[in-house]
Amino acid sequence: MTFWTQSIRARLTFWYTLLVLSSLLLFGGLSYYFTGRTLSENLDLSLKNEVRWVRNFIEPQANKVRQSKRSLDAVLRRQASPPAALDATEIDTSAQDTTAEQTDEIWNQIFRHTLQSNKKTYIQFTDNRGTIIYRSYNLGGDSLAIRDSLEQEVTHVTTAQFNGEPIRIAALRTANFTYLVGYPVGEVSDLLDSLYVIFLVLIPIALAVSVFGGFALAKKSLRPVDDISTRARRITAENLDQSISVRNPNDEIGRLADTINNMISRLRDSFSQVKQFSADASHELRTPLTIMRGELELGLRSMKSPEEYHRVLESTLEEIVRMTVIVDNLLMLAKADQGTYTAEFSEIDLHTLVDELYEDSEVLAERKHIHISVKTNTPVTIVGDRIRLRQLFLNLIDNAIKYTPEGGTVTLAVDRKNSTALFEIVDTGIGIPHEDQTKIFDRFYRVDKARSRELGGSGLGLSIAKWIAELHRGSITVASAPQRGSVFTVTLPIT
Ligand code: ADP
Repeated sequence: MTFWTQSIRARLTFWYTLLVLSSLLLFGGLSYYFTGRTLSENLDLSLKNEVRWVRNFIEPQANKVRQSKRSLDAVLRRQASPPAALDATEIDTSAQDTTAEQTDEIWNQIFRHTLQSNKKTYIQFTDNRGTIIYRSYNLGGDSLAIRDSLEQEVTHVTTAQFNGEPIRIAALRTANFTYLVGYPVGEVSDLLDSLYVIFLVLIPIALAVSVFGGFALAKKSLRPVDDISTRARRITAENLDQSISVRNPNDEIGRLADTINNMISRLRDSFSQVKQFSADASHELRTPLTIMRGELELGLRSMKSPEEYHRVLESTLEEIVRMTVIVDNLLMLAKADQGTYTAEFSEIDLHTLVDELYEDSEVLAERKHIHISVKTNTPVTIVGDRIRLRQLFLNLIDNAIKYTPEGGTVTLAVDRKNSTALFEIVDTGIGIPHEDQTKIFDRFYRVDKARSRELGGSGLGLSIAKWIAELHRGSITVASAPQRGSVFTVTLPIT
């Protein structure tokens, strides 16, 4: 039972065997049936031809035949080897022997024909009163089907003879005589019996060959799957650089190995991302801690003036605020990763939201002598998490102001395109090199680490922005040219 449920090979062989067996039985049955039918049809056809031959031969000389019963006796006596079961006892010998010489010839010809044709073909014919004129075997002939048959039309009947052997008869009635030609059905069934015996022997042999062949074939074709699972089992988090060798990449096994290799490579990427992330996060948290430690150690080394203590405390607070922001962001991303963040969706008028954000950022921009403006503000209402969307837009505005030198401009725009709302922020800042544009959404990735840190960045703003856009089933894209500026576009579905 376990072997059956746990082995594809066993199940494959079972179904294969079942299929082969049913095909063989179907093939055997159909061949048997059609061979039998064809043999019967052929038998009927040859009997029909035979009975017509006898009729065509006898009819033109019907009168002579009627008078020749005695001469038939003579012929019978002269024949060295009369046809099987030749029975002339019932032949009426009362007729006059008038043209014995001529009629002898008729019987000789019938005899010759009987002997030439298959020796098991029996011929009999009677006159209209039922008197048997000639017969090579007692075919009977009192069957209703024969007596009621139409003249000149061949009727086929199967009759059981006195020895129990069925005989197929073709009967033909004319105005003068009734002709019967018969052939033992046993001959046909003997042939069918031989066919039956052949199938009886061959089917089990073919079945046995296909079962063993199928089992061996299934074993051979499934061996690579075993190999793959053994090798896959050996791959752990420590050796994710290994892969499964692919013999033929185009067959099913090759494709399976390829899929597993792709999966391993994705695992490797995500493991290394996790490692990188932990290293980056520790480093980000370590930097403010090192600064705080240095400041505090310096403060404790000797007595300082109140102003100096104030400066140390101020610097320490600054680092604590920075750490708090990082930890808050990390917690937010952790929730995002786990899928445990519960968004609070409500209808939001982007028009009003952008107006508010503009007012908040104006002070920030003015401090850096940057001109901030709202180009278009189309009224668009979307369903979203107000706090998170505010955070998303603020991160982008904050970056635009941070990375735009004094005297530059930052432009906001809200628009509607089909069933999406577009938020666009354009700056004339330092821009982003082409090769970095796909990486800036990665956690802790910064084009210029020192500059980002100096400006109070931690490298998590854009990854959070991306997550918020995706939380709303939207997206965020960037187009930028170094020293010319950047355009960040957020697309959000309106429904
Ligand atoms: P950070 O806290 O460093 O700003 P972000 O995730 O917000 O982190 O941004 C990642 C990096 O992308 C930034 O360090 C910066 O190099 C680049 N960047 C983001 N926005 C802009 C922009 N408007 N102009 C130029 N560079 C930008």
